[in-house]
Amino acid sequence: MAVLLECQGVSYDYPGRGAALRDVHLEIVKGRKTAIIGPNGAGKSTLFLHLNGVLRPKGGQVRFQGEPIVYRNKDLSLLRKEVAVILQNPDDQIFSATVEEDVAFGPLNLGLPKEEIEARVDEALALVDMTGERERPSQQLSFGQKKRLALAGALAMRPKVLIMDEPTAGLDPHMVQEVLELTEELHMKGITLVMSTHELEVAYSWADDFVVMNLGKVVFSGPAEGLFANRSLLELIGFQAPDVYRMNEEMHRIGLFELTPVPKHMTDLRMKFCRMNGRAMGGMSIRRVDKGELPSITEVHTLISQGRAVGYYGSRAKHLLATMLPSDVRLPGLRGCLDKMVDGRDAMLYTDGMLVPAIMDHINNLAQRYGLAINVMDGWTEEGHAADGWPTG
Ligand code: ADP
Repeated sequence: MAVLLECQGVSYDYPGRGAALRDVHLEIVKGRKTAIIGPNGAGKSTLFLHLNGVLRPKGGQVRFQGEPIVYRNKDLSLLRKEVAVILQNPDDQIFSATVEEDVAFGPLNLGLPKEEIEARVDEALALVDMTGERERPSQQLSFGQKKRLALAGALAMRPKVLIMDEPTAGLDPHMVQEVLELTEELHMKGITLVMSTHELEVAYSWADDFVVMNLGKVVFSGPAEGLFANRSLLELIGFQAPDVYRMNEEMHRIGLFELTPVPKHMTDLRMKFCRMNGRAMGGMSIRRVDKGELPSITEVHTLISQGRAVGYYGSRAKHLLATMLPSDVRLPGLRGCLDKMVDGRDAMLYTDGMLVPAIMDHINNLAQRYGLAINVMDGWTEEGHAADGWPTG
């Protein structure tokens, strides 16, 4: 396990205030998703500002790829190319007049050639689905759009590690799901992710590793289940284990089913019921938008009226669908489709070919974990392609 970022006994205090960080030890492992949770004032934001060298520890050391951070402008610029921190409030991060200028700011400072900057701006805006907003004044954007713009600015640096301070705070439920799915996509592309949140449910369904902070200290790090089993610690920080975790425990207690596998999400819990009742899940047919397999609005309506779920996965599919469908049509993502498949409905998922292996993996893992048969067909492979494009068997 390669450790990308490491804090060794880091302490910090803001002038005239008590300690904001006290002897923090932390490891961010390459390729993993780490959630940092804790109440307001626990020190999460202060910690993040140490990870990209904006703040310098008063005690201890921060290391990136095994080397201590060097607090010289040139070294810090190199560090910030690799480690991007997205602040909680997008207004603290957006300085340029237009969307395009704001995203180009970082790459411009790296001294990249014009074409490279253009390419990065295009790529980053497409990822956050803001290509259409390119020339808009940044101050006219909605809160959610500003959050996405700040994210695009970070992505334009093509960082190795993306550190997000409360990325879902203040967003509506659909947007929360979109942000989470975007981070999944970035993760599939190999970016190491760190997120702070005080929404335990979000953290639980998202993270591989859990770090809990309280009063400037790391009070827990490890898998989520270890934390939830520690009731006294949870109470101390004023948190409760997520509903889905507690519900699973209760159902085990009354003898309904085994404790494991422990569901991380309501859809997973429903899969346990599916298995218990011997109910079959719907299948999924995957369509590759990069091969032009896009639906018309009539097809979407027809599929939905036939009781099928229609969804998308990935920023490219989202963007292409958005150009074809009316703006009031909000299709679910992968998780939304899976939930409908638990109801026994078949789903059609539009995605980028690049993401297909990871989607297949994800679904196969779920199928194995919950002992269910889930029929998934990659629509592009000609063999096994049912006449109407739906999973056979
Ligand atoms: P969190 O992100 O977990 O809410 P913070 O890192 O923002 O926690 O805050 C940790 C502590 O540092 C709090 O006591 C907070 O009041 C203090 N603090 C944060 N930012 C500043 C600042 N710019 N100046 C003075 N004190 C600050």
